[in-house]
Amino acid sequence: MLRLPPFDVHLPDELGAALALLAKHGRQARPMQGGTDLVPNLKLGQTKLEHAVLLAGIDELHGIELDDGELRLGAATGLNALAQDPQVQAHLPALAFAASRIASPQIRSMGTLGGNLCLDTRCRYINQSELWRQALGGCLKSHGRECHVVPGGQGCVAALSSDTAPVLIAYGACVHIAGWQDSALVRRHIALADLYDSDGVRHLRLADAEIVTAVRVPLPSANVHVGYRKWAVRKSIDFPLISVALRLERSDTGSLLAGLLVVSVLGPRPRVIDLKALAGRTIDADLAKALGQMAFDRCRPLPNVPYDADYRRERLAVEVRRLCTEMLNL
Ligand SMILES: Cc1cc2nc3c(=O)[nH]c(=O)nc-3n(C[C@H](O)[C@H](O)[C@H](O)COP(=O)(O)OP(=O)(O)OC[C@H]3O[C@@H](n4cnc5c(N)ncnc54)[C@H](O)[C@@H]3O)c2cc1C
Ligand code: SF4
Repeated sequence: MLRLPPFDVHLPDELGAALALLAKHGRQARPMQGGTDLVPNLKLGQTKLEHAVLLAGIDELHGIELDDGELRLGAATGLNALAQDPQVQAHLPALAFAASRIASPQIRSMGTLGGNLCLDTRCRYINQSELWRQALGGCLKSHGRECHVVPGGQGCVAALSSDTAPVLIAYGACVHIAGWQDSALVRRHIALADLYDSDGVRHLRLADAEIVTAVRVPLPSANVHVGYRKWAVRKSIDFPLISVALRLERSDTGSLLAGLLVVSVLGPRPRVIDLKALAGRTIDADLAKALGQMAFDRCRPLPNVPYDADYRRERLAVEVRRLCTEMLNL
């Protein structure tokens, strides 16, 4: 049986108090929301901490609100709430769908949007018990010197497996971040795509005493359509092994004005492909095929998560083609 190591739990009710705790304890502390990612990782010894700072008591992190042409989603919004919220369903249906496909009903009732966006990266060589990892001599993310996915490589290429990140990037979302500097609260915001870095050991561009407080998503205009597909072995419980989000902006005559293809579970950050090379083309079955081919040509899944990497590459092309085909009549 894997035991949870001992650590102190803090439950601040103000943002400043939470950030001050994170600043005081540095890398010994972590924010925690539903704990559905952090707790298993603590049990596996993949993550170590002495202080967990629970964010559930901070009012500012809760709620879904329409504000100035944007939908503001608090970081503590539960995944079930996200999937079932009428405003999310009306304005951001692909996000509601992506949230509804995460894990299982029980996990979705604990897990949150903030935790989903800040999910640790996953790899077949790291999501294992400490004993298993030691037997292999560790790796760059676990007290070793070599990556087993890319032997001789300089960085960790463990994959981001968040279901909400790619679809929110396709919607043009921005993350709001609060931090603690010189005993004062500081705030900033960045495009969600810029939250992620290419090092799987530290893939979030967040300082130790920074947390995500909310996500703001501009309401898409009537000619903008976003869709999402994830491929996983089972329909429930499983993390995606490849996932794709597609944004299509359609002209009055049915041609493509602009678009984005976001491919995830390749490495530590989603791949964002601008579709300007296809602008002007009719949105039809031929475009769906061209997009599938583009994804196949531009993306090379690695053997970092289960399943054969070549199969995942073929599967990616199929998922992109199917997604575009589903969106033809929107
Ligand atoms: C069996 C199983 C299946 C799963 N399947 C899926 C799946 O299909 N798709 C998927 O996307 N996920 C899946 N998950 C992962 C997880 O359940 C979800 O991603 C969930 O949304 C995580 O949210 P949480 O609130 O529980 O995060 P937590 O575990 O509380 O936190 C996750 C990480 O984010 C950090 N963090 C949390 N909140 C913040 C914040 N506000 N600012 C900065 N850092 C923060 C924590 O320190 C931690 O490192 C699965 C998990 C399990 C156990
Ligand atoms: S990608 Fe390499 S370094 Fe990163 S967790 Fe996997 S084996 Fe370890």
